[in-house]
Amino acid sequence: MGKLGGGVFRHVFGIEHFIRSLGIHCLPPGHVGPAPKHACGREHTLPADSPSNRVLATLAQGGPLPWPEQLERVELFARQELHAQGAGASHVYFPTSALVVLIQTLAGGAEAPVALVGNDGLVGVAAFMGTGLETNRAVVLQPGWAWRLPASAVHIGGPDGVPLVRAAVGHLLSLTSQISQTAFCQQHHNIEQRLARWLLTALDRLPGQEVAIDLPELAPLLGVTAEVLAPVAKRLGAQGALVCEPGRVVVPNCKLLRSFSCGCQAHAPGMGH
Ligand SMILES: [Zn+2]
Repeated sequence: MGKLGGGVFRHVFGIEHFIRSLGIHCLPPGHVGPAPKHACGREHTLPADSPSNRVLATLAQGGPLPWPEQLERVELFARQELHAQGAGASHVYFPTSALVVLIQTLAGGAEAPVALVGNDGLVGVAAFMGTGLETNRAVVLQPGWAWRLPASAVHIGGPDGVPLVRAAVGHLLSLTSQISQTAFCQQHHNIEQRLARWLLTALDRLPGQEVAIDLPELAPLLGVTAEVLAPVAKRLGAQGALVCEPGRVVVPNCKLLRSFSCGCQAHAPGMGH
């Protein structure tokens, strides 16, 4: 597994560390609202303002979701920490338009991004499974929206447990595949291939054709500096595979970008950019 330069990564997430040091974890007032409910007040339907989250969508196929009162829609902000490594998560998040990076703290304090979670999965899998402590840190990379559920509301051993276990295992299999492919990719493929792979992996988990990220913020996620990444992105841009603008990277043609990728990306279920 390639490791990030701790200094670069800590600089990128410096604001988040500062906020955490103040003990501020709550979302600002006005950004959290109750989930839309069915007219009967009990059944929950997924929001009309799709895109939705695929785990929730799969669960909803089996009938009303078991948390009609507790599920709420929240806005997530860049660099917001959703849970810490080695701690219990207070909530489980199902992103719809936000993108979250899972970060592993390694021996010596270095941090390595190991996986992306967007509308393909959930954040807080230990809480969802009722197993307690999270094995990584989850930080919002691209701001956006998610559905949020108090960890205390999930009763995987209850009568609704079977579909929940199935959903959790499916998500874990996808996550494991992504983590192992990321580790292999970091070791064996060049930065152009890794940049293309990372963008395709992100787009598999987002509703649109762009990722709201600056190149200097993306560089440490690929284990390189911004100075190394800039000419590579410029080269791919000259080929028409991507467009870098302040605050976002647009991919106008996924097929073209895929021709530059090593092919390591683990597709989210049902996707295939
Ligand atoms: Zn690769």
